[in-house]
Amino acid sequence: MIRITDILEEAQRYLSHEDIEVVEKAYIFSAQAHFGQERLSKEPYLIHPLEVTAILVGMRLDVASLATGLLHDTIEDTLVTLSNIEEAFGKEIAFLVDGLTKISKITFASKLERQAENFRKMMLAMSSDIRILLIRLADRIHNMRTLDYLEPEKQKFIARETLEVYAPLAHRLGINWMKIELEDLSFKYLQPEDCIALNEWVAKKKDERDSYAEQVRELIRKEMGEFGLAGTVEGRAKHLYSISKKMKEQHINFDQVYDLMAFRIILDSDTERDCYAALSMVHALWKPVPGRFKDYIAMPKANNYRSLHTTVIGPYGERVEIQIRTREMHEWADKGIAAHWRYKEGRAFSATEDNQIKILRELLEVHQEGDAREFMRNLKLALYPDEVYVFTPRGDVKPFPKGATPIDFAYSVHTDVGNQCVGARVNRNIVPLHYKLQNGDTVEIITQPGHLPSKDWMKNVVTSRAIAKIKQFIKTEERENSISLGREIFEKELKKHRLKFAQVVKTNEFKIAMAEYSLNTLDDMLALIGYGKLSAKHVANRLVQDEEKKEESIFEKVKKRFRKTQDAGVSITGIDNVMVRYAKCCGPIPGDDIVGCITRGRGVTVHVASCPSVQEMPPERIIDVHWEIEKKQVFSVSIRVRCGDRKGLLSELTNIISSQGVNITYANIDTMPGQSATCDFQLAVNDLAQLNKVLLDIRKLKSVTSVERLREPIERSEKGSH
Ligand code: MN
Repeated sequence: MIRITDILEEAQRYLSHEDIEVVEKAYIFSAQAHFGQERLSKEPYLIHPLEVTAILVGMRLDVASLATGLLHDTIEDTLVTLSNIEEAFGKEIAFLVDGLTKISKITFASKLERQAENFRKMMLAMSSDIRILLIRLADRIHNMRTLDYLEPEKQKFIARETLEVYAPLAHRLGINWMKIELEDLSFKYLQPEDCIALNEWVAKKKDERDSYAEQVRELIRKEMGEFGLAGTVEGRAKHLYSISKKMKEQHINFDQVYDLMAFRIILDSDTERDCYAALSMVHALWKPVPGRFKDYIAMPKANNYRSLHTTVIGPYGERVEIQIRTREMHEWADKGIAAHWRYKEGRAFSATEDNQIKILRELLEVHQEGDAREFMRNLKLALYPDEVYVFTPRGDVKPFPKGATPIDFAYSVHTDVGNQCVGARVNRNIVPLHYKLQNGDTVEIITQPGHLPSKDWMKNVVTSRAIAKIKQFIKTEERENSISLGREIFEKELKKHRLKFAQVVKTNEFKIAMAEYSLNTLDDMLALIGYGKLSAKHVANRLVQDEEKKEESIFEKVKKRFRKTQDAGVSITGIDNVMVRYAKCCGPIPGDDIVGCITRGRGVTVHVASCPSVQEMPPERIIDVHWEIEKKQVFSVSIRVRCGDRKGLLSELTNIISSQGVNITYANIDTMPGQSATCDFQLAVNDLAQLNKVLLDIRKLKSVTSVERLREPIERSEKGSH
């Protein structure tokens, strides 16, 4: 059982006296907080933070990390609060303990393998200080070492999480020993039978393996001596999980011990050149297998791993894998990023931001390759998180840009979920929609069917998807509003001209007008009117002009229905061959000043301009007409002659009329004996000139007192028509 003195003794090798006091203080604090608590193994709970801290001290982490190792479970499992920790140990340690508390609360539950990468990124993002992640890994190592006490189902769950999340994280940080231990422990719980069988087999071959390994090591050492290369040669069995993985991936069974072996030359020299010298030495000793050489010195792996790998045909014709690296490279390969903590100018690495940036810069300068850059990007994530990772209610992990809100989340699920989003629960608590998502949050969206997005949401979203969807919605909505507003305005404008919207939009004239405005649909036009980009008045006015033309088209209709067979005798401005009739109320004859009146269903009626009935007509029905007599026609006209009663006068009157070539179609004489007589004639004249001549001649007669043209026809049967 580990004791604090073991840890302190180790820490004294690289920490100051003051630092050691802080670690001691953290130990006492933790011992008090966890007092009386037991692990499932029935051991005191304090064992766990001590073991974790022992791992950290082995990694030479700084004083804050060691103190945090001791305190990491106090907030979660005891009555201690974060402010207690801050009071006792200051901001830095409190920050680390808080980070550990948060990170330990989240578990990877998704069954989807592709989710594991997002989860790992979440862990990195949540480890805003890389030490949080290192302590978490140490925590996981000890939990895995003591997994036996849990129920089998729980064991499998934790082992799977370890294999999919924590071992790859250890690998990414370049901490090989952690990766190997986490993988082998996971393997033990995930595939117990395979693990036992493989273990037994490896053990059975131990003697054989040992003598084989010693033989190969000796051969290499001898060559190194001859080449003047100083260093050590390691020959180790591969770790169980990697053997098992290799067996599965390559579908092979191992029957030779050397299949389990990997050899490693660790040079005392610091120069890369010696690595290549050792390589050519090995290749001179044994024939290399083509295509198996890998130069991770020229091209380091994503986790900054540097080494030369080669496979050669060994002393028994077997394949032998050999790695060649300097001690510095080896340090990095085994401890990864933690190696930078060690012996830095004789002092422990103080993980201040400046130093972390310095490390990043150094790494970046040395390794410009894509893989290395990706590693840097991932590491940077841990330092400057520009992303947040949150859980769906089903346990999937989704990445978002920093500052994302539940609205962003909702739109990432589905457009409808976004549009109908009315609220959100984060970690089961209702939060406002402008809440900024935090790493590890579990987000649940509350929707309400029929709910619509608001313009204000634009202020609260950062994802391009949400922005695009909300913009699209606003645009659609604004268009709809504009269309209905546009319609209202347009209808009002049309009303002024006594036009109806529904009818107007069906006409050809309207379609032509739209085409001239380059508009495809009625909605397009109404939207433009609604936006105020197109004047409704303008549109209406041009349609009214069209409507006036339409009035003409009424004439066209009239023309078609009443096409005259005989000559009209009048022409109407702009149109020909309209059915024309002469008003009986005034009986116009050629030469009279005339106007035309449009009569529904009866074409045009021609009146004398001074006819009283014309005055009663609506002005829009009156049109210009003028006489256009091509061949002689007769027109009926009535006259009244008053005269003294004189013998032979009637025959004289008829003679005068006839002598002008005018026929009398009707005559009515009223005489009162001994007094005056009234004679009415209906004449068939050609025109006004002829009539006037007749009237003049009559007036010359003796005893004629007056002669006049009658407006009203004398035939009663024709009376009243106009
Ligand atoms: Mn723990």
